Amino acid sequence: MIVRIKEFISSPDQLMSINGELKDQKSSYDIDNFDIVFPIQYEGNIFKLDEDLLLDLCIKYKYNTQCDRCLVPMVSEVSSSFKIYFAKDINEKEDEATIEYISLPEDDIFLDDLIISQVITSKPLKQLCGDDCEGLCPQCGQNLNEEPCDCGNKVDVDLRFEQLLNLFNNEEV
Ligand SMILES: [Zn+2]
Ligand SMILES: [Zn+2]
Repeated sequence: MIVRIKEFISSPDQLMSINGELKDQKSSYDIDNFDIVFPIQYEGNIFKLDEDLLLDLCIKYKYNTQCDRCLVPMVSEVSSSFKIYFAKDINEKEDEATIEYISLPEDDIFLDDLIISQVITSKPLKQLCGDDCEGLCPQCGQNLNEEPCDCGNKVDVDLRFEQLLNLFNNEEV
């Protein structure tokens, strides 16, 4: 989506609502190893701040990946919101270290690139199919979410269980 800034700035409106979907497209960013399920949803506003603009946007997207523990393919869903400040004169803003400004373009803001870059930076570092994912047996590789394995690893579990039972029995005595 392209935001026509000139029209907005010359209008009496203080904010411009933005929403839409970003379809699969060629991106200047390298997303070859990032299997995004298009479209990416976005929704938000652009506000006037004197001569500057503030873009406040919320994005929602999905991507194909696999669980870090059990390696099962899964679709991960992310919601992320971000703010971008556009300043007419960026040098004037250099003292305000807390906020990072982008130079306000003359005519248009190309939202697509901003959205894609936000998708890339908001991608979670870890993904689990569920908080209680048991993962794979470190010995035989069995997916322990499906069923317990019968390799040596299980004996350990049984042993621990037996010790636990003994503990209870001892307590009863
Ligand atoms: Zn898992
Ligand atoms: Zn095993």
